[in-house]
Amino acid sequence: MASDKQAADAAVIELSKVSTSFGAHVVHTEVDLQIRQSEVFALIGGSGSGKSTLLREMILLQRPNSGSIRVLDVDLQDIGDDEALALRRRWGVMFQHGGLFGSLTVQENVGLPLREHTRLDDALIDEIAAWKLALTGLKPEVGAQYPSELSGGMMKRASLARALALDPELLFLDEPTAGLDPDSAGGVDQLVRKLRDLFGLTIVMITHDLDLLWQVADRAAVLGEGKVQGIGSMSELSQMHQPGIRMFFDGPRGRAAQQQEEHQAERNAGRKP
Ligand code: ADP
Ligand code: MG
Repeated sequence: MASDKQAADAAVIELSKVSTSFGAHVVHTEVDLQIRQSEVFALIGGSGSGKSTLLREMILLQRPNSGSIRVLDVDLQDIGDDEALALRRRWGVMFQHGGLFGSLTVQENVGLPLREHTRLDDALIDEIAAWKLALTGLKPEVGAQYPSELSGGMMKRASLARALALDPELLFLDEPTAGLDPDSAGGVDQLVRKLRDLFGLTIVMITHDLDLLWQVADRAAVLGEGKVQGIGSMSELSQMHQPGIRMFFDGPRGRAAQQQEEHQAERNAGRKP
């Protein structure tokens, strides 16, 4: 069994006593969290529980009031501009609403991080952008389209392609399946799994999507009342009794997702050599 010391060494993201408030409104109270190499880690919790704020703090878009955050062995507290720029190249972010620039084509959007952070020439950037679009399952002709011409599912894929532009070690996804029809959402599930399995990416995602959680998350942390209410695999969390955790598992959506997971596990077991 790994000692705590070894577990801490393997952490790609480590939060220690992170507290955040907006005026009198306390969002996080001394939150501790460790996210390990090559895991798909989910942040879950009710609306307003501070998931997006925590994610924004991990990617240098916001600072906590106190506590420490280390990402890829870099302390974010007293990070300098050059170090921050170097660190930003090592992660990709897919924002909830895509965040693509409407005035650029999809291919230009995907190539943007390469234009900002590398000196590659335009032809090579276009080639890499086309490959990232293919990786996320988009047809080549989508590259020439504008974001407003895309369906919700295509937009998420294009946004993911952009997050992958710089071959990140870490990927942050805010609600990757929100607003998608079940077919498109299922495609995103498979895509996230593929990224972890092919590239060993560490993936941090915020989601309410129980299918995605059961099918893809290795571990999840439930945020509530400023704290981590529980942390573990979905099946471990499903055994916990705190009300803030139960709300994810009880009720019709929770039960349906759990049943589907059990069926999936049976199918997978049947397929093993
Ligand atoms: P979640 O993503 O879990 O729904 P958020 O992290 O977006 O929650 O927000 C947590 C709480 O912090 C909410 O009550 C929200 O209104 C508040 N909040 C978030 N960002 C700001 C901000 N920039 N200024 C003031 N309040 C904020
Ligand atoms: Mg949010």
